[in-house]
Amino acid sequence: MQLAVIDDKTIPYADLEPSYLDRGTFFGDGVYEVVRSYHGRLFALEEHLARFERSLREVAITGVDIADIRNRVMAAFERAGIANAKVYFHITRGSGDRNHCAAAWMKPRFFMTVMELEEKPANKEHGVSVSTFPDWRWKRCDIKSLNLLANVMARMDAEKKGCAEAILVNDSGEITEGSSSAIFLVRSGGSEIVTRPLGPDILPSITRSMVERLAMPAGVRVVEEAFRPEDAMRAEELFLAVTTQDIVPVVQFDKIRIGGGRPGNCTRRLIELFAEHVR
Ligand code: PLP
Repeated sequence: MQLAVIDDKTIPYADLEPSYLDRGTFFGDGVYEVVRSYHGRLFALEEHLARFERSLREVAITGVDIADIRNRVMAAFERAGIANAKVYFHITRGSGDRNHCAAAWMKPRFFMTVMELEEKPANKEHGVSVSTFPDWRWKRCDIKSLNLLANVMARMDAEKKGCAEAILVNDSGEITEGSSSAIFLVRSGGSEIVTRPLGPDILPSITRSMVERLAMPAGVRVVEEAFRPEDAMRAEELFLAVTTQDIVPVVQFDKIRIGGGRPGNCTRRLIELFAEHVR
């Protein structure tokens, strides 16, 4: 008899719920998005949907209607009635017997949660500590794929060191991004912010592009160039950019204090601009 064992329960294989055979679980074979709302309105939904559509295309998951995803997200968000919500959704290539090659009959599977977003005002006000970790990820980090093991290991290492985020360093000694955030440094007396150029080695972060759009009219020049941990340690200011927290000042980098251990003026100004933008 073909069978399956779930924890300590044995059942006939034929009785398995399809979710146990999801390709997302077997292979991380799927893509995802995280969208948030501010004050009862979803933020940058179209940008997230566009990135989601691109991720699906890049991994060749077909047969997904983005208009349908938009409707599902909006309906679930309305139904949840949470003003500051975190909306997670993913699509996997389908479910079925474990085989690297997906069967032609498989249908993409959709999953979503709408949860209360955990605001972290103390992080914004006082800043956070970060630590570096090798970037062990694959060569298509521009795809928001469910394969997050290297990110998870990096973040767990940071947590062990009492840090809020792991900053990933590639084999050339350059910083790519955080385990789940983009990173910027501030230089030239607060008149320039620097972040890594987009490419296959980082996620095209939506918060990153929003920060760039807000900085320019405020007279802050945006420079896209690679930098290293040594540059980050000497930076006037450092900050992270991520959907769930928008901008978070970094005040300690591998135990080195940044900006006297307090969030700097440029970062604080960008936080204010962001808050105005989403008000
Ligand atoms: N980089 C990585 C690896 C991420 O996982 C995330 C978000 O989860 C980000 C950057 C920030 O992207 P976004 O601003 O679109 O949330």
